[in-house]
Parts: sequence; structure tokens; C-alpha cells
Amino acid sequence: MSTRMLKFTTTGRALPGKRAADVRREDFSEIYTRYSAAAAAEQASRCSQCGIPYCQIGCPLQNNIPDWLKLAAEDRLEEAYQISSATNNMPEICGRICPQDKLCEGSCVIEKDFEAVTIGAVEQHITDTAWEKGWVEPLRVARQRDQSVGIIGAGPAGLSAAEELRKRGYSVAIYDRYDRAGGMLMYGIPDFKLEKQLVMQRVDRLEEGGIAFHLNVEIGRDITFAELRQRHDAVLLATGTYKARSACLPGAALAGVEPAMAYLTAANRVALGDDVAEFNDGRLNAAGKKVVVLGGGDTAMDCVRTAVRQGAVSVKCLYRRDRENMPGSRFEVGNAEEEGVEFVWLSAPKAFLGDGRLVGVRAQSMRLGSPDVSGRRAPQPVPDSTFSMDADLAIEALGFDAEALPELFAAPDLMVGSGGIVETDPDTLMTGLDGVFAAGDVMRGASLVVWAIHDGRKAAGRIHRFLLNKAGLEKPASADAFLKTFEQEYAV
Ligand code: FAD
Ligand code: SF4
Ligand code: SF4
Repeated sequence: MSTRMLKFTTTGRALPGKRAADVRREDFSEIYTRYSAAAAAEQASRCSQCGIPYCQIGCPLQNNIPDWLKLAAEDRLEEAYQISSATNNMPEICGRICPQDKLCEGSCVIEKDFEAVTIGAVEQHITDTAWEKGWVEPLRVARQRDQSVGIIGAGPAGLSAAEELRKRGYSVAIYDRYDRAGGMLMYGIPDFKLEKQLVMQRVDRLEEGGIAFHLNVEIGRDITFAELRQRHDAVLLATGTYKARSACLPGAALAGVEPAMAYLTAANRVALGDDVAEFNDGRLNAAGKKVVVLGGGDTAMDCVRTAVRQGAVSVKCLYRRDRENMPGSRFEVGNAEEEGVEFVWLSAPKAFLGDGRLVGVRAQSMRLGSPDVSGRRAPQPVPDSTFSMDADLAIEALGFDAEALPELFAAPDLMVGSGGIVETDPDTLMTGLDGVFAAGDVMRGASLVVWAIHDGRKAAGRIHRFLLNKAGLEKPASADAFLKTFEQEYAV
């Protein structure tokens, strides 16, 4: 065992520095500074190189964490990058935005007595360094094949699948209705968590590797789904979840009540330099307003922190459970509180108040009962406990379902379950339609970037198998030649 490791007993956990709250409130730049090379090596050296690395089990990508921590501790960052990028298409992005406390770091076995290794921050350091030093190589295509795959959606699921399929030699075309690729990475998640240049450099690399991006193209409107299936040998649905859930409260039609995605998309577009009419006319701009955000997930956290940066007079977050039972990351709540957000816990919204325009939100106090199916304690109303608060912008951040794809795609045989989630075979990820696969949020429900990457990689492997079978059936070679090719291909 390297003498550089096992330092957790003598070295404390230290994340990279955080910019002061009053400074970071003034801009949209990322809030964490970067590790120095020495700090990253020191933090990596805290790892105890467990025989059974639970951190790896806690990571959806099963990243080989102990190996790259050891290499990082020995300042062998290029090798660390090779290992880390072998299982993850966007390590620098996951290092920044995975809820590590619930995944890899939450499973780190030194956590009980000593604080967990800062896995995410070291992963970010390794890949940021790789980009800076030019170690991130262009896509290497095994050999060009004559089959093509069409991917609907350029979010992390679609992008990861595209990369893995292109590496295997397929022609890959991605279609996205937005004008920029990245999905939620581009238009959902704000810059203070993930600067957009990081997403763009990933997309550029894929484009340079021969993946065709067809932006501003909505499947079901600009091209029919049937036409797309004709164009390609296989199709991947990676369309995410964009149907906003609403509390359907009285007053929801008042001016000043907005859905979270419209608000965040406008803010991200402004940060990208776009001219956004709904921001310019004040509708999707929190400047000078009293803002109330409904919800307790990551989207709600992004909304409150965006509103602070836009210059809101006050920002409140209304959530029906308490801090311990909220779905969002505790770190993000802490960051929001530091930036001046007020959390109104155990409060459920009842109505939007106003006459034509919003002037307030009425809410009811709640208390917590027994755990529900999600394992969190179920909120129950406290009788005679309604109260009101002033508001001139209320943002609903109550989660997302998938859009109604069978109707939008005129594909009634595409089976969907609750919340519009596309049903697939859990092993092959194929839907009931031959050659049509699904990955990411549209297949598992609104989730995380790291799970979208996991699904995209898995779908690529399954599509590869499907296409090999298809090619084998369509072009039967001699039995020997076929078997040889088949063995080689399955080894990829
Ligand atoms: P998406 O990223 O949603 O991409 C789907 C793409 O499909 C979009 O670009 C869309 O334009 C396109 N599309 C849809 N329909 C069509 C069509 N008919 N034709 C053409 N294109 C179409 N996860 C984390 O891990 N950490 C976080 O901090 C985090 N923060 C979040 C903050 C917000 C505000 C939101 C909303 C989500 C957040 N998430 C976070 C969740 C994460 O962003 C998603 O789980 C992830 O992006 C899902 O990836 P995806 O590729 O399945 O879908
Ligand atoms: Fe942790 Fe996410 Fe990186 Fe996995 S991908 S090691 S969960 S930060
Ligand atoms: Fe290192 Fe923690 Fe993983 Fe063990 S569980 S190998 S200490 S990071």
C-alpha cells in the first residue's frame, strides 16, 4: 500500500474554497473555487483503499474511485484521468453536480468515524486538469459501419449514448428541439452550479468526432417519428421530462405565477447572451420583486438562488415537509441560506392571491405523520393555521413528468406508464417498438445527470447488440465468418 494513502486519520476533509455569499450573490459564476494540485493530492490521500470499495457501489457508474484517488494522490493525474473517463462520459460535470452525499461519498466507509473523502471534487480536479493539459483526446472511431442511429434529445443521456455508439463506428445523428445541445445541463441547471462552457466543450468534441447535431428540430413537429424510424436503423428516445407538475391552486392563472423551467431557461439564456423578451419585459425576471418558490427539490433550490442573483427584494421557499425530509440536497439548502433565502418549512401553498396580478400566496401550516411510500414522513395539515405572505412572483417547482410521447409522436403502440414514463425491457432498454430504445429521465422519471449517463451508456451497448443481430440477419455471411465477427463485436 502506498504510503501516500490512508491519511484520513491525520488529514481532515476539505472541499475547495467557496466564494463569500455576499460576493457570489452578485454574479452567476460557480461558487466553488478550484483545488490546488497539492490540495487535491492531499484530499485524495485520505482514501483508505478499501478491499470492498462501497463508494464504487454507491456511484451509479461504478466508477473505479479507489484507483483514481490513489493516482491523484501520487500526482499521476493523466493516468487518473484515463481511468476516470473509462466509465464516465462527463466526469468534470458529475464532479460538480452529483449529489455526492447521497451517492459515492454517502457510501464512503470512512464516513462514520471520519468525514468522507471528497470524491466529487477530486474527480472534477482530475478532469479539469485533463482538459487544460490537452489529455482529453478526440473521439476514436473503431471502424465506420454502414448503420445509423437517430437519437432524440441532446441531454446527458443522448450525448453519452451518442459518444459510445460513435466510438463503435455507427453514424449517429442527434435531434433536439432546442437551439443548443445539452438538455437540462444547458437550460435547466444554472451557471453557479455548472458553467456552460463545460457543456459546450463536451458537445464540440462530439461534433468533431463526426456526430451530426440537428438542432431546432422537434420530432413530432418538424420530422415525424415514423420518418425518423425510416431514416435510421435504430432510434433512441432521450427526451427527458418536461411536463411541469402544478399544484393547480386557485389563482394559478394570475400574472406573476410561472413554471420553474420557463424561469430557469430564461435566466440561462440571458447568461448565454441571448435577447430574451420575457426577461426584458420583467415577466421572468425577479429583480425588485418579492419571490416565493413552491417546492423542496433541486429545481426549487436553483430557482431561489437565481432569484437572489437577479436582485429580488426577498426570496422565500415554501415547502410542506421539514429540512430533514426534503428531496433536495442539504448542501444546496445551506448555500441558499447563506445567500439570503428564507425557508418556510412545514407549509403547503393553498392559493395564489390577487386580482389579475399576483400579490401574495396563502399557505397552511403542516405537521409530519408516519413515513409514506417514499420513506419520508407524510405532511398533514394543522387545522385553522392558514397564513399569507406577499409575493409578486411565484414560481412552481413541483417536479416534472414526461410529455405524452404516444400522442406527440403519433405512436399509439409506444407504451408509457405513470407520469408518461416510457416502458422498456429492463435488460435491453428496448420499447415495445422494434429498434426503438429509451434512456434517461424519459425512461426512469425525473432523476439525476449521472443516471442519465448510466442509461445512455447502457442503451448504446444494447443498441450495438441489436444492430449486430440485425446486420447478421440481413447479410448472412458464412457460418465461420459470422461467428468470428460476432465474437469480436461482442467483445467491444
Ligand atoms: P434532458 O437533459 O432533459 O434532455 C432531453 C433533451 O430532449 C432536451 O434537450 C430536449 O430539448 C430534447 N427533446 C425533448 N423532446 C424532444 C422532441 N420531441 N424533439 C427533439 N428534442 C426533444 N441532476 C443532477 O445530477 N444534479 C443537479 O444538480 C441537477 N439539477 C437540476 C436542476 C434542474 C432545474 C433540473 C430541471 C434538473 C436537475 N437535475 C440535476 C436533473 C438532470 O438535469 C436530469 O436528470 C438530466 O438532465 C436528464 O437527462 P436526459 O438526457 O434524460 O434529459
Ligand atoms: Fe460520485 Fe457522481 Fe463521480 Fe460517481 S459520477 S463518483 S456518484 S461524483
Ligand atoms: Fe476510499 Fe472511501 Fe472508497 Fe474506501 S469507500 S475506497 S475510503 S473513497
